[in-house]
Amino acid sequence: MFQHLFKLEKYIPYDVKKTIFDIDYLAYFKQGKRVILFDIDNTVGPYSKDEPNEDAINLFKKLQEMGFRTIVWSNNHAPRVSRYASFLNSEYIYSARKPFKTGFKKYLRKNGHIDSSICISVGDQLMTDILLSNRLGINCILVKPIEKKDEKWYTRASRNMADSIMRKMKKKYPDTYDLIRSLE
Ligand SMILES: [Mg+2]
Repeated sequence: MFQHLFKLEKYIPYDVKKTIFDIDYLAYFKQGKRVILFDIDNTVGPYSKDEPNEDAINLFKKLQEMGFRTIVWSNNHAPRVSRYASFLNSEYIYSARKPFKTGFKKYLRKNGHIDSSICISVGDQLMTDILLSNRLGINCILVKPIEKKDEKWYTRASRNMADSIMRKMKKKYPDTYDLIRSLE
């Protein structure tokens, strides 16, 4: 499986926070970051909800007023992602195929190039969000998955792979390992 194709370093998050509301976005803005890529499922909201809640809607509003461009990128299908994004007034990438670069590259070809250095991303999965972000040179913040029930099969598969990554991380990067485990 593809966890062997990438170095362990590619699974290390730039930072770890409990939720999307615990991130100091203003500090990132001051560093020159201007684009935030958000995973949807279990990051912005649970799988079981078709719409983001009021808090998420307000956060996106605040970020956009701050001067950020927001993009939700999800491996989920177009109807869910486009509808979800409309509540957040956000750009979106559906069927993103994380951890493959194709979805993001295609989006840039259509909408204009975005330099990775001005992006941050936020997601709950090592095998998709963190791996792809690191492959693209984007700083990624890992958050705790909102709910563990009702997961899609591919999330469960990715979680099993993540377990094997975590075992390696425990040996080589114990501090990062502890930080990620502290979310549970
Ligand atoms: Mg997710």
